[in-house]
Amino acid sequence: MSRPSSPAFDVPLSDLVTVDQIVDCMKATTVKDGVEELVANLESIKLVDNASTAVKRVMEREKLAPTALGSGVAIPHARMDVGEKPVFAIGRHLEGIDFGALDDQPVQLIFLLVWQPERPGLFNQLFANLVTKLNNASFRQRLIEAKDAKDLRDVLAAIRIEWMSSSATALDGTMLTALQNLEKEGKETPAQDRKIALIRQDLDSSILWRYDRLKKLHGTAVASAEGGVCGGCSMQLSHGMYSEIQKNPQLLFVCERCGRFVMGDVSGT
Ligand SMILES: [Zn+2]
Repeated sequence: MSRPSSPAFDVPLSDLVTVDQIVDCMKATTVKDGVEELVANLESIKLVDNASTAVKRVMEREKLAPTALGSGVAIPHARMDVGEKPVFAIGRHLEGIDFGALDDQPVQLIFLLVWQPERPGLFNQLFANLVTKLNNASFRQRLIEAKDAKDLRDVLAAIRIEWMSSSATALDGTMLTALQNLEKEGKETPAQDRKIALIRQDLDSSILWRYDRLKKLHGTAVASAEGGVCGGCSMQLSHGMYSEIQKNPQLLFVCERCGRFVMGDVSGT
């Protein structure tokens, strides 16, 4: 027997989300209530069997750095033992919830995601696919204007969720930036130490390995791409890469010269 296979998949998001998993007209008024509302729904349709653990994990992650992307979208998430496929809950909120987004915009579209911890790289891949699509204003508008949960699900068919165990080219940089900012402050307090430990647990080991190696080499691992220049080595980034960075400021790219991670938004928390 060969090693256990980790099957790849490439499906439209609508294949992973039934109408039951969509909560249209959410009632919550806070992030925690919103997470509870979505998780309670997942529990009622038996996709999550321990709602309180799920809420706790999602909120722990949320406290490390808000998962709001800006433009009224948030992707709260946590690793949980949920079986082979990632589990989504999607919520739509008429007025929006204050998620602590950098642009202060209330969040109207929530994509809550829990997934198997044994699948390294999976989250980064899902996150990249979601973010790329959700950063598109006209696509968001279609989700906001969908007339009901069924219609909303049909719009989601345009998001492809693919996962190949070896392809992790576009990665969520929010946590890595938060980690770098925390570690930069030096003289950590116990509260900071705990945050650092939690973030390190949350990140894939391959990313952490690369992060630590870059830090050792250069002092910093994540640099800003402001003005189209790598903030680490001052090299001009390619136009193609810079335009992708501007479109997706939360994703990590790699500077072709110094190898640092570069991203559009390194303000972190
Ligand atoms: Zn560079």
